[in-house]
Amino acid sequence: MAVVGSGPAGFYTAYRVMSKLPQARVDMYEALPVPFGLVRHGVAPDHPEVKNCQEKFDEVAASPNFTYIGNASIGHPGHLEEHCTIPLKVLMSHYDSVLFSYGAAEDKKLHIPGEASLKGIFSARQFVGWYNGHPDCGHLEPDLSRAEEAVIIGQGNVALDVARILLEDLDVLRKTDISDRALAQLAQSRIKRVHVVGRRGPMQAAFTIKEVRELMNLSGVAFHGVDESLIPPALDKLPRAAKRLMEVLRKGTAARVADSPKSWSLDSCLSPKAFVGNEQDPSRVGSTEFYMTKLDDPYNPQSSVALTEETRTLPSDIAFRSVGYKSVPLPGFAEIGIQFDEKRGVIRNDGLGRATQVLPGLSEPSGTPPITLPGVYCAGWVKRGPTGVIASTMRDAFMTGDAVVEDWLSGAPFLNHPAEGTAGGWDAVKEDVGPQADQVVTWDQWRQIDQAETARGVTRGKPREKFTSVRDMLGSLK
Ligand code: FAD
Repeated sequence: MAVVGSGPAGFYTAYRVMSKLPQARVDMYEALPVPFGLVRHGVAPDHPEVKNCQEKFDEVAASPNFTYIGNASIGHPGHLEEHCTIPLKVLMSHYDSVLFSYGAAEDKKLHIPGEASLKGIFSARQFVGWYNGHPDCGHLEPDLSRAEEAVIIGQGNVALDVARILLEDLDVLRKTDISDRALAQLAQSRIKRVHVVGRRGPMQAAFTIKEVRELMNLSGVAFHGVDESLIPPALDKLPRAAKRLMEVLRKGTAARVADSPKSWSLDSCLSPKAFVGNEQDPSRVGSTEFYMTKLDDPYNPQSSVALTEETRTLPSDIAFRSVGYKSVPLPGFAEIGIQFDEKRGVIRNDGLGRATQVLPGLSEPSGTPPITLPGVYCAGWVKRGPTGVIASTMRDAFMTGDAVVEDWLSGAPFLNHPAEGTAGGWDAVKEDVGPQADQVVTWDQWRQIDQAETARGVTRGKPREKFTSVRDMLGSLK
C-alpha cells in the first residue's frame, strides 16, 4: 500500500492495516522531509501532550515492513530542485492499493472587499504554520509591533489557538517548540485586545471548553464578558458539556479589563462585510466592518442566522480569518477517475474510506450503491472534511484500515492483481522517477533532522528548535 501524507490519518491507517495483515508492506510518501503533518505544524506549541501520538507513529515506522519516503510529493511539484515529484499515475501503477491522507493544505476565504488587497490580513492556517515553523509560511512576517487591536474572524479552536498565542506570556512560550522567528516577532507585539468574532452566538460556537478555559486562565489577560442575552437563563436544563461551557463563559476571568494590560472578547452575531484601510496608511487594514446578524433561536445550537441591515465596525490593526481549512484534488485525479467533491472538499467515498465514482448519466442521489474504485482509499481530513481532532481522525483512519483489510481478505479487486506480483512499490517507483529519487529523505534521515532540532532546542531551553526551511532540513543531514 502507498500512503500519501504522513499525518495522523496516514499513520493510523497504516497501523491498522499492518496489525491486521502482518505481511502488508506500507510505503509512506510525504511532501516535506519531516513527518507528522498538523501534529508538527498545526497543534499549538503550548499543547505538547497532544503530540504524544508521535510515539505510536514511531512504533509504526520501526516495522521492517514500513518505508518512509520524505521530501517526495505526489502530483504537486516541490519548491526546490532538491525534491522528488512523483506523478500520480506512476504511483498507482506500482501498488496494490493507494491511500490518500494528504489533509487540507488550503483555507476558505471570506470573499469580502479588502481581503486580498490590504496588508495585515492573514489566514489563521498560515499564521499557525508560521509560528510552528512550516517551511511554506516563512514569508508571512506579521508585523505585531504596530498592532494594538487584533480581530480573528471565526470561533473554532484554531481561532482560540491564535488568540492564545497573541496573548500568552512570552516566558511561557519561550519554553515551547514555537519557532524563534515567531518569538522574535511576539517580543515586539503591542497587542492589547483580541476580538474573536462569530456569525452566531456562544451556544452555536465551534470551540470547546478546554481552549476557552486556557484563555480565561492566562495571567494578566481579562475577558470582556459574554452577551448574556445569548446564554440560556436555565443552565441546568442544558446537556452537561454545553452547561459547563456556558458557566465558564459567564464566570469569565478574575482579572478586570480596567486593571489588565491585555484582554479578549467573544464578539457574537457579526458577519464580515469588508476590511477597511487604515487612515494613516491606507494600504494596511485599520478596521473591519460587519453586518449584525439575528439568530432565530439564540439558545438552540442549530439556530439559523440571518443578516440584518445594521452594521458594526471593529478596530483591526491586524486581522486573521479562521473560517476553515480546505482540501484540494491532486493533479492527475481526473485522468485516473478519482472524483473530488469540490463543494465539500473531500474525495468522494463510501463513508468507510473506499473512493467512489459516479458514472456519467447517474445523477446523485440515484438510489444505486456507489461504485468503488478498486484499491483506492482515503482517510482523515481529505476523507471527511477539515474538522475533528486527532482522536476522531484515528477512529476514522481505523475505519478506512478495516475497509482495506476486508477488501483484501475477500479477494476484491485491487489496483494491480496481487497474483501477478506487479506491485513493485518504492523500488519500482524509484526506477521510474530516475535521479530525483536521490532527493528523498528516509526515516533514519528524519531521525537525524529530529536530533539536530532537539540539540538546537537545548541551547535555547526549548524542547526543539525546528528548521523552518526545507534547505536547512536537508542541510542538517550528514
Ligand atoms: P494532516 O495532519 O494535515 O497530514 C497531511 C500530510 O500530508 C501533511 O504532512 C502534508 O505535508 C502531506 N501532504 C500533503 N500533500 C501531499 C502530497 N501531494 N504528497 C505527499 N504528501 C502530502 N487535534 C487535537 O487532537 N488536538 C489539538 O490540539 C489540535 N490542534 C490543532 C490545531 C490546528 C491549528 C489544526 C489545524 C488542527 C489541530 N488539531 C488538533 C487537529 C489535527 O491536527 C487533525 O485532526 C489531524 O492532523 C488531521 O490529520 P490528517 O492526517 O488528515 O492531515
